[in-house]
Amino acid sequence: MKRIVIAEDDPPSAELMCDFLTAHQYDVTLAFDGAEAVRKIEQVSPDLILLDIQMPVLDGFAVLRWLKNQPGLSAIPVAALTAYAMRGDSERILNAGFDAHIPKPVDVAALPGQLQSLLNRALSNSLR
Ligand code: MN
Repeated sequence: MKRIVIAEDDPPSAELMCDFLTAHQYDVTLAFDGAEAVRKIEQVSPDLILLDIQMPVLDGFAVLRWLKNQPGLSAIPVAALTAYAMRGDSERILNAGFDAHIPKPVDVAALPGQLQSLLNRALSNSLR
């Protein structure tokens, strides 16, 4: 089972993704702010991380900066969840080092395919 940490401060959104990915055989750990995300990532050492950008305590960019300075965790693929619809936002997110950008509201039916392609890409990078 693949372990995933989902950090999202809106509980209904977090629980919807949790239920859907659990049904798709993911072992899901939720965090509801950026500091909790850091703790859960350290505890779980997940295969994949979804980070909301706008969260209390630490935002998604801050959590990503922390992650990229952790040897042993920095190669975990990370997708940004964001409701920002501004032009240039996707570029800003990818430039920051996120592996993917998933706009909100999340299309949960598309999520397993998006996550699988992130996992596949991470695997081929690690074999390179
Ligand atoms: Mn948020």
